[in-house]
Amino acid sequence: MNQKDRFRKRVSRRRRELQRKKKLATNIFRWRGDPRDDVAPMHANHLKTCSCWMCGNPRKFFGNLTVQEKIADITEREFEGDDNDNIEIAEFD
Ligand SMILES: [Zn+2]
Repeated sequence: MNQKDRFRKRVSRRRRELQRKKKLATNIFRWRGDPRDDVAPMHANHLKTCSCWMCGNPRKFFGNLTVQEKIADITEREFEGDDNDNIEIAEFD
């Protein structure tokens, strides 16, 4: 079995498993009482529809900057020629 065959086998298994998980998700969502069959397959990989402050995007709830934005801010300040001593190290939390 060459590399291409192994790749095809892996892809076909992944697709098969995803179809299986979509069926399972549909059943679970029906069992929970959610009649939306079109929503269940979207959450098949994690079975989670939550978007509370713990699960959701911290940008939405706390207004955090992304890492890219923090880096861009630092680069911009350096580029403007500010004193490098005054640049605070950004916290990547
Ligand atoms: Zn949550």
